Amino acid sequence: MTIVESLAQETPVGGPSLPQERRLVTAIPGPKSQELSARKAQAVSAGVGVTLPVYIVAAGGGVLVDVDGNSLIDLGSGIAVTGIGNSAPEVVAAVAAQLAQFTHTCFTVAPYDSYIAVAETLNRLTPGDHPKRSALFNSGAEAVENAVKIARHYTGKQAVVAFDHAYHGRTTLTMGLTAKNQPYKNGFGPFAAEIYRAPMSYPYRDGGLDGVAAATRAISQIEKQIGADNLAALIIEPIQGEGGFIVPAPGFLPTLVAWCRANGVVFIADEVQTGFARTGDMFASEHEGIVPDIMVMAKGIAGGLPLSAVTGRAEIMDAPQVGGIGGTYGGNPLACAAALATMESYEKDDLARRARDIGVIMTGRLNALRAVDKRVGDVRGRGAMIAIELVDPVTGDPDAALTGRIVSAAHAQGVILLTCGTYGNVIRFLPPLSIPDALLVEGLQVLASALAAA
Ligand SMILES: *Cc1c(COP(=O)(O)O)cnc(C)c1O
Repeated sequence: MTIVESLAQETPVGGPSLPQERRLVTAIPGPKSQELSARKAQAVSAGVGVTLPVYIVAAGGGVLVDVDGNSLIDLGSGIAVTGIGNSAPEVVAAVAAQLAQFTHTCFTVAPYDSYIAVAETLNRLTPGDHPKRSALFNSGAEAVENAVKIARHYTGKQAVVAFDHAYHGRTTLTMGLTAKNQPYKNGFGPFAAEIYRAPMSYPYRDGGLDGVAAATRAISQIEKQIGADNLAALIIEPIQGEGGFIVPAPGFLPTLVAWCRANGVVFIADEVQTGFARTGDMFASEHEGIVPDIMVMAKGIAGGLPLSAVTGRAEIMDAPQVGGIGGTYGGNPLACAAALATMESYEKDDLARRARDIGVIMTGRLNALRAVDKRVGDVRGRGAMIAIELVDPVTGDPDAALTGRIVSAAHAQGVILLTCGTYGNVIRFLPPLSIPDALLVEGLQVLASALAAA
């Protein structure tokens, strides 16, 4: 048996004890992954896309190991989910213990204490020391839907404002809130009523409009076109995710919060992507000291198990009638066990600090690239949520083709990179906070070579 065959036959256990190395033993994707891609095409809906068709058998620390025995550097965390790393030992232990006790009762039929403990932890960790309540769901989109339902019930109003470049999910209500047509909305209408869009603060592309001026522009449009009397909620990502890692100018978010408070509008922060230490604070809202009325969380909350949450002011969260909020699986006991272990690790191991250190490494290297290569138009983000925007160096126009070439080259070299952005010209870096420095640096070197060659 060749080394390649024996590597391919191993079925390694995941978690941080996996060798932390980039190791390519076949072309990417390898033959076994290609076989699985052929099966996928015959069995899975074509609408379910795949960024990099390598099929994973184990993951942990900063690597994903595929079915052909390749070990790839993970700079995506399954889209900001595995912040504490794949198969983190504390999560594995907590879920295994829960698995042996019971797997499901439905919290709204016969409840259990871990759901309450997750709610208590979220009420404590989220910004603001006012009384709070939480409710648990399965996905980010489901939590966003419920945040809007609760805000409407509390205010007795219907309209909702979302922003340019926003991403809030792919269900009917959240597709309406999401800005980008392709691929998220095209052909899937009609969309929900009473959703309005306001201009975002996008410092790289709005001529340096300061945060207060950008907020004033948005507020003026909202007042003219909707009116606060009709507006239940304003929803915004404190740093936009799929829209391009857009960090609004300082003052933008606090000005919007103050206007909402003065006008009886519920301010909803969608921290599904930014939450849980990712940006160097437990939540991105903390950076400018804003206190959202409702916060929506998911992705990083439970070490990879499906869980989402809505946490907000007690009087808002307690407004709906009994039975109005819930679902069969929301706050599943396995997901709650994982969330408790995950959130304990974020706090105990000060992973927000780790995110800031990762941010220093990433921004240092990416800004060095920008200094010598004008195709890197912008480096932005915070903590372990950093992106580069790629442009035509002469016109400044978005260069999605270049972006695609760089990402394909990095994939072929065993580095998992994700793109984003309304114009498809942003490469985003969301490494697990468990990635060793050396692997992170190696991943960025692969990116730099791919950029140079593209
Ligand atoms: C991913 C995401 C969602 C949707 O979450 P799902 O779990 O995919 O439904 C909503 N809002 C933001 C900001 C996200 O990044």
